[in-house]
Amino acid sequence: MHIAFIGLGNMGGGMAANQVKAGHEVAAFDLSAQALDRAKAAGCLPVASVAEAVAKADAVVTMLPAGAHVRAVYAEQILPNAPKTALLIDCSTIDVESARAVGLQARELEFRFADAPVSGGTAAADAGTLAFMVGCDEGDFPAIEAVVQPMARAVIRAGDHGAGQAAKICNNMVLGISMLGVCEAFALAEKLGLDSERFFEIANQSSGQCWSLSTYCPWPGPVATAPSNRGYEGGFATAMMLKDLKLAQQAAAAAGAAAPMGAQAEGLYALFDRLGYGTKDFSGIVQMLRGRLDELA
Ligand code: NAD
Repeated sequence: MHIAFIGLGNMGGGMAANQVKAGHEVAAFDLSAQALDRAKAAGCLPVASVAEAVAKADAVVTMLPAGAHVRAVYAEQILPNAPKTALLIDCSTIDVESARAVGLQARELEFRFADAPVSGGTAAADAGTLAFMVGCDEGDFPAIEAVVQPMARAVIRAGDHGAGQAAKICNNMVLGISMLGVCEAFALAEKLGLDSERFFEIANQSSGQCWSLSTYCPWPGPVATAPSNRGYEGGFATAMMLKDLKLAQQAAAAAGAAAPMGAQAEGLYALFDRLGYGTKDFSGIVQMLRGRLDELA
């Protein structure tokens, strides 16, 4: 299969490499020469433009920073140049409105389109173990599932165009809020003189158990693989979490939904970001809550 891959950054680089490993021919384009070089080293064919990448594509996968990039690349480059038979799959995390708008444009031109954002960070992108949440016409889902399979551990159809993005921001709002809850609990436990390992053991067997505690514990020690054990480097950047919480608030305002905890969480991550920690893993916010930012490099 001929795949065009647009956007070869932290996530897209690994995802494109997994399509090569699955035996597909991948024409790759990114504005960054460095990203293109990495894609070439992974076995992709680097090309000079989006138009060139999509010209012979059976499927087009995009992994771009935000809604404005996705709207522009689809309207100006992909839709005018891709064959009508190409499956168009946007894996970026963007606002629901942009996903619906691009989906509508694509449908009007008789393309099959899916918004298919992912959960799992760069490690999952490299390993091909991302979870995909897909918004598409029901009949298109099997073909979309087949294309993303080499990059996935789970592929779930959320509903029609925009539903993938809706699922993604709702999920990440849970994550942003639950992480703050776990951080506050550890900071309080410390003040109350509780041993952190013992508190972890208890909460992990009690009703406080959740992904933020069990798999991604923000307190160094209990979960060896968590970013808390490597100075909050790598993982999921605070700036990215902030972006997703902003998208959730934007969607809540547009839909008339109350999301006050999401708003509080957005405010706290925004403060952590303004203090200069936007590139640190979001669980590093525990050091702000402890009043120990001095322990963060
Ligand atoms: P990134 O900034 O590393 O990569 C984006 C790439 O897009 C860059 O290489 C950039 O040069 C390229 N690009 C921008 N405009 C372009 C254009 N017009 N044409 C071609 N290339 C263009 O970002 P990332 O971490 O790879 O994230 C990509 C998307 O995935 C974002 O929407 C992000 O929210 C989402 N996401 C990221 C993570 C994560 O942990 N990093 C996890 C899940 C989802």
